[in-house]
Amino acid sequence: MATGNAIVFRFEENNPTLRRYLNTAERAEVDHWQTPNMTWSIELHPMHLTGNPFYIRLFGNTDSGNVPKVDTRNKTASQYGDITKIANNAKLRNKGGLNTVEQGLLITFISNNWDHLSLIAQRYADGELAPPDPPPPTPRATTKPCTVTPQCTGTVPVVTSGKAACNVCYQFQ
Ligand SMILES: [Zn+2]
Repeated sequence: MATGNAIVFRFEENNPTLRRYLNTAERAEVDHWQTPNMTWSIELHPMHLTGNPFYIRLFGNTDSGNVPKVDTRNKTASQYGDITKIANNAKLRNKGGLNTVEQGLLITFISNNWDHLSLIAQRYADGELAPPDPPPPTPRATTKPCTVTPQCTGTVPVVTSGKAACNVCYQFQ
């Protein structure tokens, strides 16, 4: 089930919405984040979800329907190698849309980020978020209490082999 709320975000590493859908390890896989000259946002909304779509929302565009759409389910980036493959692409090309250079940027952006855009679209369609980051590893203790000399308050370095001396009683253990 979808979340029910439309979301609009930029595909940028520190975008708080994106970070809900890609965890730290997944974000580390991204090589081509969206740059400021890419004048669109990614939109997800809870209609027509069967194709795991994402939408291209141009800056300043306020349309409530027929937003340029990319279906990702059972698709590959190569199927979007031309802007005319994007549903409602006329809005991207018409006056007020993207110039030729920007259209090329968009196609390259989609291709470069296909796996992660698809993953976000799939999670949104399924009503899921990214799996949480694993907890940070517990720091390994570097010392342990002396156990050889009664009442000794010293500590002994933790070593991987052999014995080490207590820092108070100097007993190896
Ligand atoms: Zn000791």
